[in-house]
Amino acid sequence: MLPDVPELYKGLTYPWGRAINPAPGQPEQIAEGVYWVRFPMPMSLDHINLWLLADGDGWTVVDTCLNLDSARQLWEQLFGSVMAGRPITRVICTHMHPDHVGLAGWLTERFGAELWMSREEFLMCRAMVGDTGRPAPEVALRFYRAAGYDKEQLAFYQGKFGNFGRAIYPLPESFRRLADLETITIGGRYWQVIVGSGHSPEHAALYCPALKLLISGDQVLPRITPNVSVFPTEPSGDPLHEWLSSSARIREILPDDVLVLPAHEAPFYGLHVRLNQLIEAHNRDLRSLFDHLDQPRRAVDCFPPLFSREIGQDSLGLATGETIAHLNCLLGRRRITRRRDARGVDWYQQIPETAGFDDEPPPASREPRAT
Ligand SMILES: [Zn+2]
Ligand SMILES: [Zn+2]
Repeated sequence: MLPDVPELYKGLTYPWGRAINPAPGQPEQIAEGVYWVRFPMPMSLDHINLWLLADGDGWTVVDTCLNLDSARQLWEQLFGSVMAGRPITRVICTHMHPDHVGLAGWLTERFGAELWMSREEFLMCRAMVGDTGRPAPEVALRFYRAAGYDKEQLAFYQGKFGNFGRAIYPLPESFRRLADLETITIGGRYWQVIVGSGHSPEHAALYCPALKLLISGDQVLPRITPNVSVFPTEPSGDPLHEWLSSSARIREILPDDVLVLPAHEAPFYGLHVRLNQLIEAHNRDLRSLFDHLDQPRRAVDCFPPLFSREIGQDSLGLATGETIAHLNCLLGRRRITRRRDARGVDWYQQIPETAGFDDEPPPASREPRAT
């Protein structure tokens, strides 16, 4: 339950502290029938928060962790402790990333439970898992060559291709669709599905008005910025536009006094402040990137205005995806141009006449714009 002394930081309030590191698998009760469990992960983002919701004679769980032996052992512990031998009757995944869906197939198989997900997340996940074991396709290599990768960087990408599916237990063959703004009942209470886009195609957050809780997945995170990237499957996508629109919409339709339960870092109050911070940070990045493009540059030349740290081989893929997301957003706003040279490399440059333009206020709709 809510501890007495909350921690305040930059307009956000963290009832359990900002840098809390709960013992792995040690459940913390958030509200009646709502438990927070943290699962460790062996990577730089070293944990994920999962949510256990008491649901009649069983449990609804939200997100599942990577398909790792250690995570399965933690689940086993939970089955015997807080879950008191009651079965999982429903597995909800906020979105398709491996830390969220990794064990969805294992849990649904074990309990004969249904997987509930939005349709785009389920289908996209199955499609991407199908890449595991295949060599990187030529279009993907062309995409990274266009971004400015050299031979060595392309070889590194090829070596990692297909990793997505390696941490995911096979997904079930069928699922129950979660649709935007639909209401589902969990443990006798209404939870509303809030779809957002940009971090992943059709991310489902869950809002419970009675408990004033928002299970935000990766759509809204404190301390870290949700990754918004362009990938070779949709080179001209504008996920940053979608992310900005979704964030403005969430701010519009959800009240500010909810306790946000994010998939990473700690629960917090201050939903609107956090959305404003994230929107403003992206707008700042767009302005710096525009200024940086006073001469033709490739995507790989655009890291300095966007990242304070040096981009090494390990973070190159993520940095490239995020950079192209910002470039595509400026292209969509017609602030910059793109020209492909004879070697297939893209060069971006600002349209100086648009220098004084204000940031375009994100429209409330998530429909893609005509270009
Ligand atoms: Zn994610
Ligand atoms: Zn995540």
